[in-house]
Amino acid sequence: MSQSAAPPETALFNALWDRQSGLCALCGQPIPRHRFDVAHATLWKKHRPTFDHIRARARGGADKPANLQLAHAQCNKRKGAGDLER
Ligand SMILES: [Zn+2]
Repeated sequence: MSQSAAPPETALFNALWDRQSGLCALCGQPIPRHRFDVAHATLWKKHRPTFDHIRARARGGADKPANLQLAHAQCNKRKGAGDLER
Protein backbone atom coordinates (compact mmCIF):
# COMPACT_ATOMS: atom_id res chain seq x y z
CA MET A 1 0.00 0.00 0.00
CA SER A 2 1.62 3.23 -1.09
CA GLN A 3 -1.03 5.72 -0.09
CA SER A 4 -3.98 5.72 2.27
CA ALA A 5 -6.64 8.23 3.22
CA ALA A 6 -6.74 6.80 6.74
CA PRO A 7 -5.13 8.55 9.67
CA PRO A 8 -1.47 7.66 9.91
CA GLU A 9 -0.44 4.87 12.25
CA THR A 10 0.73 7.28 14.86
CA ALA A 11 1.00 6.93 18.61
CA LEU A 12 -2.02 9.22 18.87
CA PHE A 13 -4.08 7.04 16.57
CA ASN A 14 -3.10 3.91 18.48
CA ALA A 15 -3.86 5.51 21.85
CA LEU A 16 -7.34 6.55 20.73
CA TRP A 17 -7.92 3.18 19.10
CA ASP A 18 -7.07 1.37 22.33
CA ARG A 19 -9.16 3.77 24.42
CA GLN A 20 -12.21 3.10 22.24
CA SER A 21 -11.46 -0.59 21.59
CA GLY A 22 -11.70 0.10 17.87
CA LEU A 23 -15.29 1.35 18.12
CA CYS A 24 -16.69 4.51 16.56
CA ALA A 25 -17.14 7.22 19.20
CA LEU A 26 -20.31 8.45 17.51
CA CYS A 27 -22.28 5.32 16.58
CA GLY A 28 -20.55 2.64 18.69
CA GLN A 29 -19.97 0.29 15.76
CA PRO A 30 -16.56 -1.25 14.99
CA ILE A 31 -14.32 0.75 12.68
CA PRO A 32 -12.37 -1.10 9.99
CA ARG A 33 -8.74 -0.31 10.61
CA HIS A 34 -7.38 -1.13 7.19
CA ARG A 35 -8.68 -0.83 3.68
CA PHE A 36 -8.64 -4.61 3.30
CA ASP A 37 -10.87 -5.10 6.35
CA VAL A 38 -13.79 -4.10 4.12
CA ALA A 39 -14.97 -5.55 0.83
CA HIS A 40 -15.17 -2.40 -1.27
CA ALA A 41 -13.35 0.88 -1.59
CA THR A 42 -16.67 2.69 -1.39
CA LEU A 43 -17.33 1.14 2.03
CA TRP A 44 -13.85 2.10 3.11
CA LYS A 45 -14.47 5.72 2.16
CA LYS A 46 -17.55 5.79 4.38
CA HIS A 47 -16.24 3.73 7.27
CA ARG A 48 -12.55 4.51 7.44
CA PRO A 49 -11.36 5.91 10.76
CA THR A 50 -11.04 9.67 11.05
CA PHE A 51 -10.09 11.98 13.88
CA ASP A 52 -13.08 13.77 15.32
CA HIS A 53 -12.83 16.80 17.57
CA ILE A 54 -15.06 16.29 20.61
CA ARG A 55 -15.32 20.05 20.87
CA ALA A 56 -15.15 21.44 17.36
CA ARG A 57 -12.14 23.55 16.51
CA ALA A 58 -14.55 26.25 15.43
CA ARG A 59 -15.82 26.31 19.03
CA GLY A 60 -12.34 26.59 20.47
CA GLY A 61 -11.59 22.87 20.74
CA ALA A 62 -7.92 21.99 21.02
CA ASP A 63 -5.88 19.68 18.81
CA LYS A 64 -5.05 17.52 21.81
CA PRO A 65 -5.64 13.83 22.50
CA ALA A 66 -8.14 14.69 25.26
CA ASN A 67 -10.27 16.51 22.69
CA LEU A 68 -9.94 13.89 19.94
CA GLN A 69 -11.75 10.65 19.27
CA LEU A 70 -11.97 8.24 16.36
CA ALA A 71 -15.11 8.01 14.27
CA HIS A 72 -16.21 6.61 10.91
CA ALA A 73 -15.67 9.14 8.13
CA GLN A 74 -19.42 9.06 7.51
CA CYS A 75 -20.33 9.66 11.16
CA ASN A 76 -17.80 12.44 11.46
CA LYS A 77 -19.23 14.13 8.39
CA ARG A 78 -22.79 13.77 9.64
CA LYS A 79 -21.88 15.22 13.02
CA GLY A 80 -20.09 18.11 11.38
CA ALA A 81 -23.17 18.95 9.36
CA GLY A 82 -25.44 18.77 12.37
CA ASP A 83 -23.04 20.63 14.67
CA LEU A 84 -24.15 18.77 17.79
CA GLU A 85 -23.81 20.42 21.16
CA ARG A 86 -21.93 18.41 23.75
ZN1 LIG B 1 -19.72 5.50 13.29
